[in-house]
Amino acid sequence: MKIDYLIVGLGLAGIALVEELSRRELSFLVFEDESQTSSLVAGGMYNPVVLKRFNPVWKGAEQLQVALPHYKRLEAKFRAAYDRQMDILRIFKSIEEQNNWYEACDKPRLKPFLEPAIEDNRNEDIKADFRLGRVKGTGRVKVRELVNDYRAYLESHGRLIRESFSYDKLEVLEKELKYKDHLAKRIVFCEGNGLSDNPYFNWLPLEGTKGELITIHAPGLKLKEVVKSAVFVMPLGNDLYKIGATFNWSDKTNLPTEQGREELLEKLKTVISCDFEVREHEAGVRPTTPDRRPLLGKHPDHPRLTLFNGLGTRGVMSSPLLAQQLVEHLENQAELDPEIDISRFRRFYQV
Ligand SMILES: Cc1cc2nc3c(=O)[nH]c(=O)nc-3n(C[C@H](O)[C@H](O)[C@H](O)COP(=O)(O)OP(=O)(O)OC[C@H]3O[C@@H](n4cnc5c(N)ncnc54)[C@H](O)[C@@H]3O)c2cc1C
Repeated sequence: MKIDYLIVGLGLAGIALVEELSRRELSFLVFEDESQTSSLVAGGMYNPVVLKRFNPVWKGAEQLQVALPHYKRLEAKFRAAYDRQMDILRIFKSIEEQNNWYEACDKPRLKPFLEPAIEDNRNEDIKADFRLGRVKGTGRVKVRELVNDYRAYLESHGRLIRESFSYDKLEVLEKELKYKDHLAKRIVFCEGNGLSDNPYFNWLPLEGTKGELITIHAPGLKLKEVVKSAVFVMPLGNDLYKIGATFNWSDKTNLPTEQGREELLEKLKTVISCDFEVREHEAGVRPTTPDRRPLLGKHPDHPRLTLFNGLGTRGVMSSPLLAQQLVEHLENQAELDPEIDISRFRRFYQV
């Protein structure tokens, strides 16, 4: 079979890429082996404000402009409701934080998203002695549902093969690539933290940051917004809430741990005071980079081999715009922003 693109991995990066290729009527075949879980377990929040220090997220507003229509199109395609717009209530820890909030509200890049009036806490099960600030234009995408629907759809159209991609079977020929029976113009690796097994790109500094989340059932809580303090408390409906997330830089497995659960429960008890029951506990490794920028671009010696990785902690928002930029680069020779181009790490590459 002769196609335009082979793709390895169908998480948020793979989906955004497939959407972009489909819009341009380019053909593709995807391999997916379920070795990574980052997209499946993701909280799914999109939020253009760094809530720790009230700074704008890098290119956050631009990313949102592309991401929101992307999820709308996917909702229409699968007749599903993935995107639920929800404000975030940031609990302040001190008067100083309240003052920082007022200052942040005057910054032009933050103004559209921050409500200047600080709010009183009206929920007696939430602990917020220093009141709350409201972030607007934010929400949550049901990523697991989207990924599962997308995989099933591609599989039913013969465009997804549920197996591990064997790197040693890829042949780089003069004018094309050969993989088993398939001939392709290019390959894009979208493997998330699976990059460490990729002999063509594992020289890149992908760090991988494990995260754990729990889902609780808390009938008394009655939250409509996401609450952010020591942890996120995200309403899922039916009195279920996702609580997350941990950050661990040494463990690279997808397995939930007792230590992760304890940490989340301890922090959760500083935020809510009602009874709850833990229903689910999940983990995944975020594909993070030392400079917190994505990893896109062509292999230094084999330009038909390309990478779409490094989505870090915010793949929901960033993947659609990045997919557009990558395909423009590959199809129309558009320059990649040097901040996202893997050539910034060329010094690590050894033949
Ligand atoms: C606990 C947690 C909470 C998070 N919360 C949020 C959030 O609220 N908002 C947000 O925007 N982001 C969040 N993230 C980050 C987000 O999940 C990532 O940015 C995003 O999922 C990365 O997508 P990806 O497609 O690059 O990688 P992945 O989702 O890891 O996808 C890579 C895919 O490639 C496949 N693969 C790898 N190697 C091979 C191979 N050799 N052959 C075949 N298939 C292969 C894997 O099975 C996997 O499906 C969170 C992450 C975690 C872990």
